[in-house]
Amino acid sequence: MQKIILHFDMNSYFASVEQQANPFLRGQPVGVCATLTKQGCIIASSKEAKAFGVKTGCRAEEARILCPAIKLVEVDPPKYHSTTQRIMSICREYTSDIELYSIDEAFLNLTGLVKSFSAAFKLGREIKARIRRELGECLSSSTGIAYTRWLAKFGSDTAPKGGIVTITPANRLAHLQGRELEQAWGIGAALAPRLQALGIQTLDQLAQYSPINLLEIFGIRGYELWANVNGLELGGLQTRELPKSIGHSHVLRCRTRDVNFHKSLILRLAERAGRRLRALGLEAHSVYAHANFELLGGLGGSQKLFEPLTTTQKFFRYAWNMLAPGVTKDTPKFFAVGLFDLRPLSGQLSLFSKPKPERLLKALDEINNRYGEEVIAQGELVGLDKHHAPDRIGFRKTVGVDI
Ligand SMILES: [Mg+2]
Repeated sequence: MQKIILHFDMNSYFASVEQQANPFLRGQPVGVCATLTKQGCIIASSKEAKAFGVKTGCRAEEARILCPAIKLVEVDPPKYHSTTQRIMSICREYTSDIELYSIDEAFLNLTGLVKSFSAAFKLGREIKARIRRELGECLSSSTGIAYTRWLAKFGSDTAPKGGIVTITPANRLAHLQGRELEQAWGIGAALAPRLQALGIQTLDQLAQYSPINLLEIFGIRGYELWANVNGLELGGLQTRELPKSIGHSHVLRCRTRDVNFHKSLILRLAERAGRRLRALGLEAHSVYAHANFELLGGLGGSQKLFEPLTTTQKFFRYAWNMLAPGVTKDTPKFFAVGLFDLRPLSGQLSLFSKPKPERLLKALDEINNRYGEEVIAQGELVGLDKHHAPDRIGFRKTVGVDI
């Protein structure tokens, strides 16, 4: 069966969503800023602003020099997330085999769903048209259709804005012909000169170069480059599954016997895990907590719960009960707390306990997700310096599995 992958990438996504939301911004140069200050950075610009040279990373004051008429708006992540969710629900009407690669990019596996590249092209056009019809005319996308994941993304990266490019085994080499190395997904400014030093100037030359030489010079990375441009599938779609556990740990830089300090630290770790649990729409049926102590060594364990858990407070109480015997006697060196046995929210909580302030929790999570970690926090966390157990979840190019 012919493998067919579709990749789409929304054009000038954040700026387009803002233009869709506010008709006064349509057709105007728009810059979406991290903060509305002179030093604020442009994180997305509309195609009208790009025409003036306003790029991602530009400072707001530089953008105003390049394009005095630019309309600056502050970034609004919930708006982009909810638009992405609506785009994904359109995609899910066609296939459940989807890899959401970033907030504005996804791979759809159409293998078996359509029989030919031309049928995939029609489907791609339909999805694109539905996004515009159902979400708004400002939302355009570039699409690539091919027989590997890499070539599908290469197709949409090289497609004209709003267009569809199909790469088949028959036209692959022609599509690579004469293209600069840096147009390829995975070849950056550091790698391109090293390939050029071997006499490889274009992507078709890379495809025809000896894979053995590439393997010798660049290791497995070199072979992957060659395989990608030659249409050999290496990975396939990376669909995300629900996590098996959600946990946080911390090695203590500050060795102290201050029990309240440790309590706050454990609460911080519990809050972080609790917030992720709730963001994924899950409940936990088991918890674990471990600690290492200077004299006592390792201590802790796991516990199966009688009723599912969703709140930080409850998680913290279990974790504290398991760790308190050590924390009150010895100096801790390491903490790890986590939730496992995760299931989608059953709503069973109310059968066993008093109604929980679910809406309050949701509002707190939303505020913290939007304005930063611990903007609103439990009283015990106030005054606990941020460098103890800093947040190590970086800004990934992905959105949660709830999409
Ligand atoms: Mg994009």
